[in-house]
Amino acid sequence: MKIICIGRNYSDHARELNSSIPENPIFFLKPDSALVIRNRPFFYPDFSSDVHHEIEVVIKINRLGRSINAVFASKYYSEIALGVDFTARDLQAECISKGLPWEIAKGFDYSAPVSKFFPVSMFRDIHNLSFSLELNDRRVQTGNTAEMIFSFEQIIAWVSRFMTLKTGDLIFSGTPAGIGPVRVGDRLTAFMEDMKVMDFSVK
Ligand code: MG
Repeated sequence: MKIICIGRNYSDHARELNSSIPENPIFFLKPDSALVIRNRPFFYPDFSSDVHHEIEVVIKINRLGRSINAVFASKYYSEIALGVDFTARDLQAECISKGLPWEIAKGFDYSAPVSKFFPVSMFRDIHNLSFSLELNDRRVQTGNTAEMIFSFEQIIAWVSRFMTLKTGDLIFSGTPAGIGPVRVGDRLTAFMEDMKVMDFSVK
């Protein structure tokens, strides 16, 4: 199983990072060892002092596919969740400044907590789905999938040109503005519409 993450898919977030709006989806991978489920805690790594939360909508691939046409891409997922793309911003900045790959900043253990998955059919319209993250009961990020630069279907089409998608692969679809640091002792809660789907602590 692989975890594919899309970068800069919300223009307000691209602006807060002083990044340009991409012409095609930008993606990177996290290993399966990054995954955390069932609201287990996020263990703060000892190699960073600036880990940021990025709340994102996650889809789960439900069949094998490569070079998938965007027109058919909606058949390749049927469940949706929220996840946090934890990012060691200090390490990432150092990697970027040296022109190095980002893996240590993005793919470390516990860096991909994911909620339970829900059937797409449960929601009125997953292309107009609001979601949010609260840090110690204070709302820090809100987004709506209608604001995505690249839709789930466009992402599936683009990624599958380069790598085969397999059943169980996860795609983190990008974060809206409002990213910021977490600290040991923090509690994070995440909502799809008004439904609480994640509630975990930083240890
Ligand atoms: Mg992200």
